[in-house]
Amino acid sequence: MTMLDAGLNANQLSGASPVAGRRVIHSDHYNLALVRTVLTTEQIDARSILETASGEVAFQTLRQRGKTEKWRGAKRWLSEATGLFGSTGLGDLDLSSVTEQGGEARVTGSHFTDAWVKKYGPPGQPVCAVAGGYIAGALAAAFDRPFSVVEVACVGQGKSGCRFRVTPLDGEVPFAEETPPLDTPLSLPAPVPPAFDELAVVAALLDVLPSADPEGRIPAFGGTVTRLWAELYNQISFRFEREVPRAMGNKFANLPSLVLVEAGHSCAFHTFGGIMRSDEWRERVVPLLETREDWLHAAVAVINTLGWGTWRVQALVPGERATIRVYDSYEGTGYRHRFGKAESAKCYFSRGTAAALMNLLYVGDITTAPELTPSYYNQLFRSPLSFRAAESRCRAIDDPHCELLVNPLSAGLTTKLLRGLR
Ligand SMILES: [Zn+2]
Ligand SMILES: [Zn+2]
Repeated sequence: MTMLDAGLNANQLSGASPVAGRRVIHSDHYNLALVRTVLTTEQIDARSILETASGEVAFQTLRQRGKTEKWRGAKRWLSEATGLFGSTGLGDLDLSSVTEQGGEARVTGSHFTDAWVKKYGPPGQPVCAVAGGYIAGALAAAFDRPFSVVEVACVGQGKSGCRFRVTPLDGEVPFAEETPPLDTPLSLPAPVPPAFDELAVVAALLDVLPSADPEGRIPAFGGTVTRLWAELYNQISFRFEREVPRAMGNKFANLPSLVLVEAGHSCAFHTFGGIMRSDEWRERVVPLLETREDWLHAAVAVINTLGWGTWRVQALVPGERATIRVYDSYEGTGYRHRFGKAESAKCYFSRGTAAALMNLLYVGDITTAPELTPSYYNQLFRSPLSFRAAESRCRAIDDPHCELLVNPLSAGLTTKLLRGLR
């Protein structure tokens, strides 16, 4: 399945059921930023947030499919669980030495250790909590009982592969059989048509959009991507958001939204910076673009293949500000479905992405293909000229769509300086 298929399928699915089964494409940069942020926040039970989120989504997905396709016997359930894991890009899962009595599960080519080691060096501790949670959820679905899954060796500790000790537990399976339906019927407006030829951009990139290699990695644009469930990201982000003030006190209530937006900044800087520096982009897409503003439209065209929702550039004043509308944002829609009506907007990742695109185009100049170094990142995001996005409307608070307002930290300064530079 190509990136485009995944995105379109995800968007189609969202009409009937806003979250169940919806998958989204994310880069190793975002996955690592999110998981590392959660795992390195002291005082919270980080592993449990990651494992529970992943376990529940694996359990529900497999149960749903097993029921529909009438799977019989442990062998079938385990082989389906292995296949599903491989389709996500998380790595290659081996359950051949696991039975209902337990055993050892193995993962090779683990997405999280690959990314972590590459970017920061070995973390020295097991970091595959998302994989561990998945294994627990999959085994619960197969055997109808709870399991403890502990990562006893991890590539993050310098080991050659990731190994998980599996032990059956007594008692009830700790996951709900399915996501309860939304309490209010959804009647969402259809997105307005794009004002830019997005299909031309997507068509130009189609044959370089990713599919999985035999090791379960999905290479794309110089890194790897995953096709994981929107629900997984939402459960991780929003449980993290609740857990931090609970464990650390109310003065930390804003910390999660700040770091989740920051994960979006980092992701889009590397992913879209990388895409815009790639040969494919420069050879096939740039000839389609007339202005710098077209670069933003073209980035949105790529976004609209990723399953995040349908983005539209509503307004764009070059160098000054942008308004971006998001229809069916997986964050906003997913929050509303699973956690009820929010008190404030919830699309932290989308905010980070929107700001990063403006920073790449107008604070730095990605059209000249600069190296994506830490100092370039700081130049883009740590300056009074840097753009930040606020969210003025959100599905999570029952608005019909989300709206991202992207402005410089210091509006007057930016305008003046940019005009001076031109
Ligand atoms: Zn590991
Ligand atoms: Zn939103």
